[in-house]
Amino acid sequence: MRRLGLIGGMSAESTTTYYQLLNQGVRARLGGLHSAELLLWSVDFAPIAQLQAAGDWATAGARLAQAAHVLERAGAEAILICANTMHLVADNVAAAVSVPLIHIGDATAQALVDQDLKRPLLLATRFTMEEAFYRDRLESYGLQPMIPGEGARERLHAIIYDELCQGVIDMGSRTAVMAIIERGRAEGADSVIFGCTELGLLLEADGVGLPVVDSALAHVNAALDFALAKPA
Ligand code: GLU
Repeated sequence: MRRLGLIGGMSAESTTTYYQLLNQGVRARLGGLHSAELLLWSVDFAPIAQLQAAGDWATAGARLAQAAHVLERAGAEAILICANTMHLVADNVAAAVSVPLIHIGDATAQALVDQDLKRPLLLATRFTMEEAFYRDRLESYGLQPMIPGEGARERLHAIIYDELCQGVIDMGSRTAVMAIIERGRAEGADSVIFGCTELGLLLEADGVGLPVVDSALAHVNAALDFALAKPA
């Protein structure tokens, strides 16, 4: 089994999900007492979130690149950034290591393509919905991602940072996100991307009325494929 290097803490709430899913996935595939070979660098999210808000992606990218470098030196054979938003600096992180970076956008796009879905509604932080880095990645797979309107994007962003990343699950927010999905469906979405690794904590993927790709789950599955691939 290959050893995975996780850059987590963004937020810690969803890094817990990664840890659980990776271990459950290895046990499901190998059975018995098998569990995942992992290294985790978990950041303090507050300063990273401040850099995001200030648009200082260069400093944020340098911090994650440093983490990736240390993980590689410690024995990681691939790097995962356990969040969508910080893939804005994925190129900086990939350039700091000689092992592969398993990209959450590739994993998510591939999961949509595998199910023949084309027009996903992307639910994520404002950065992920509004900056080109993520939508471009999806479009490179032939997908036509949709994003919610301005007010809905603001609401989602606030739910992610003020609630989900702080361990708060609010029923009113669940209703609000369901309404955003309903609007997307009426406007032609054929699927939904949980493009924030915390959204699965708020919503059940099989309860939203459209096929869902949860980016955290897709990312974990891609990582499991890498970790457990038979050597050529
Ligand atoms: N975990 C989130 C994501 O998938 C949001 C927190 C962050 O900005 O990294 O984008």
